[in-house]
Amino acid sequence: MLNDQAERDLFSEEHNMFRDQVKKFIAAEVLPYHDEWDEKGVVTKEVWHKAGEAGMLCPTVSEAYSGPGADFLFSTIVIEEMARVGASGPGFNIHSEMAAPYVSEFGNEKQKHQWLPKFVSGQAVLGIAMSEPDAGSDLKRIATTAKKDGNEYVINGQKVFISNGQIGDVFIVAAKTDKDNSSNSMSLFLVESNRKGFSRGKNLKKIGAKAQDTSELFFDNVRIPEKNLIGPSEGNGFRQLMHGLARERLAIAVGCVAKAEGALGNTLDYIVERELFGKKLYDFQNTQFKLAEVRSDLLVGRSLVDQLLSQYLKGRLRVDVAASAKLWTSEMLGRTVDTCLQIFGGWGYMWEFPIAKAYAEARVERIAGGSSEVMKSIIIKSLFKDLGIKAEFN
Ligand SMILES: Cc1cc2nc3c(=O)[nH]c(=O)nc-3n(C[C@H](O)[C@H](O)[C@H](O)COP(=O)(O)OP(=O)(O)OC[C@H]3O[C@@H](n4cnc5c(N)ncnc54)[C@H](O)[C@@H]3O)c2cc1C
Repeated sequence: MLNDQAERDLFSEEHNMFRDQVKKFIAAEVLPYHDEWDEKGVVTKEVWHKAGEAGMLCPTVSEAYSGPGADFLFSTIVIEEMARVGASGPGFNIHSEMAAPYVSEFGNEKQKHQWLPKFVSGQAVLGIAMSEPDAGSDLKRIATTAKKDGNEYVINGQKVFISNGQIGDVFIVAAKTDKDNSSNSMSLFLVESNRKGFSRGKNLKKIGAKAQDTSELFFDNVRIPEKNLIGPSEGNGFRQLMHGLARERLAIAVGCVAKAEGALGNTLDYIVERELFGKKLYDFQNTQFKLAEVRSDLLVGRSLVDQLLSQYLKGRLRVDVAASAKLWTSEMLGRTVDTCLQIFGGWGYMWEFPIAKAYAEARVERIAGGSSEVMKSIIIKSLFKDLGIKAEFN
């Protein structure tokens, strides 16, 4: 049966109960407002606070820092349920799974006590600011600098495409602490949005996920205390980012499979309603065969993701394997939404139909969090390493 969570061995009764709560939360607090958020290009802070109260933010943060201290499957449940119904507005996933782990894994005790409780409650919305106008895939090229001045750092530069950029209260900012392009030249900093010299650019207009705010950020001599450096010393930023990317890509893969499941669910609802040439849309063999292909892709995707979740929980998820999962599931999602939209005909192209939104939203999965091409370069480097061949990219 579609979306039958009972078939998933990884999830316990406790997980299933949490899933029910999350579904109820989304039905009551997210979906009724989503169209309005789409129009405004941003969600309210209120939904963040409510999600915090419901235990949906940063589920893996330990109880010592006011977190639920749950396992990554609780995070998975939030990602899946939001993704399956197209609730792309609230950037919970970016906050909880892509940004907060830099504090929980690399932050010192003071930083953890200061920030993690606020991330868990939603009192502080977090973003991760790596990308710049001239540096996305090639992160070592970033031009933002952090120069030490007494017991402060002075940050100058510009970021772009930053999720939660309009509503974020604090950002993890990648900046150069050294002039060269080596992996030791970058550091990560916590930068609060109320610092003098920090400003947000416009809310960028995207083709999909319109309720999710995406911004430019500007840093004009922004002074932050040296205690905002993440990690024991300068120069660890690149390694910290690489460490976090396996988890981030698994989280994206989880979302891609759930989004594809949502698209199939929508399409199944539609084919039983739509009539043409004196038949139901489901009577056509083309419809049946296309959906059989989609269903098979979904089973493969679900099996892959569950296998990798299991590896992650045991601390054994490899970076190249996470890259393969992100590559395959995001490409699979692209195929799925395209096939499903075609089955809707012209209605599938209309914004009011969830499949149209799903189609537009799906496109970013092959780009953000590392593009498909970057995933391929990670995979091939690992494959060739075993052969003693160094993969060069040009
Ligand atoms: C909606 C959205 C949200 C985002 N959110 C965030 C965020 O919160 N924080 C953040 O820091 N960034 C964010 N990003 C940025 C995202 O991570 C980058 O867009 C992505 O890493 C690609 O970088 P780029 O856009 O600069 O493309 P480029 O790096 O300029 O790439 C251009 C093309 O070259 C290809 N390419 C790259 N490497 C190779 C190679 N080795 N061989 C062949 N081709 C290659 C790319 O795949 C792409 O097709 C977001 C982007 C979007 C669209």
